[in-house]
Amino acid sequence: MEQINGVRKFRLARSILERGFYSTTAYWVDGMMVDTGCAYTVRELVTSLKGYQVDRIVNTHSHEDHIAGNAALQNIYGADVLAHPMALPVLADPKKRQPLRLYQQLMWGYPTPSWGKAIGDFVETDHHRFEVIHTPGHSSDHICLYEPDERWLFSGDLFVGGRDRALRADYNIWLIITSLKKVAALDIRILFPGSGTVRQNPRDAIIGKIEYLKELGERILALYRQGLSYVQIRRKLLGPEMLIAYFTLGHFNGKNLVRSYIEDRPDRKEPIPCS
Ligand SMILES: [Zn+2]
Repeated sequence: MEQINGVRKFRLARSILERGFYSTTAYWVDGMMVDTGCAYTVRELVTSLKGYQVDRIVNTHSHEDHIAGNAALQNIYGADVLAHPMALPVLADPKKRQPLRLYQQLMWGYPTPSWGKAIGDFVETDHHRFEVIHTPGHSSDHICLYEPDERWLFSGDLFVGGRDRALRADYNIWLIITSLKKVAALDIRILFPGSGTVRQNPRDAIIGKIEYLKELGERILALYRQGLSYVQIRRKLLGPEMLIAYFTLGHFNGKNLVRSYIEDRPDRKEPIPCS
C-alpha cells in the first residue's frame, strides 16, 4: 500500500513461495475503487480496506486481474460497480464469457461474478468529477478516468512502460495507438496505471511510446510488403520470443504483435499471406 496525494494504491499479486508474481494495482480515491485485483488477493484487499468507505467501484476493463474483488466489496459496502457496457456480461459470468488459459488460472484465477451498471460520461465522488474516456485496444471495453482539476489519469492497462516486444493474441495494436493518442492530448500531472508504476508528468513517456509503436509498425509493414513471414519479421525486428511467450503457451508473444500490425491495420486491403 502507498499513499499518493489523495489516492491510496494497493499493489496486488499472487505470491508463490512468498514472492509476488505479475502484480496488478487497485486504487482507492474519495470513496471510489478503481479496479479490484485478482481472485487470489480478494481477502487481503478487503482487510486492507478496513476503515475506508467504498461507495462505488469502477473497472477499467473486464480482465480477470481487475474485477475479482467486485463481488466481495459489493457485499460488504453495497457499492455500485460501474464499467463499460461491453464489460458487464463478463462481470456477470466470467467463466462463460472470458474463459481463462491455464497460466491465467494459475496467476489470477476466476473472479466471482458481480453485477455492474453501464458507466456514463462522468463519475462523481464527494470531492472529484472524473471524465470517462473509452480507450479500446488492450480490450474493447477499456476505459480511463480523468480528473481535470487534479490532472490525474487512471489508465488501467492502456499504458505500460518499456518497449513492447510481445502482444496478447486478442489485443489490437492500432487501437492501442489511437487510445494512447487520445490520452496524450490530456493535461496529466499524475498517471495511475494498472501496472502500479505511478508517474508524474507522463506526457513525454506516453508520446515516446506512441512514437516507438508507430515506427515499429512502419518497419513491420515494410518487411511484410517485401514478402517476409510473420515469424521472419519478428526475428528480424523483435529478436527471439520472450520468456512470457513460453509461459503463456504463445498467448502473449512477438508474432502476435507482428500479426496485429498487419491484420488489424485500419487501411488493410491486401490479402494476408500464410505465415
Ligand atoms: Zn488487462
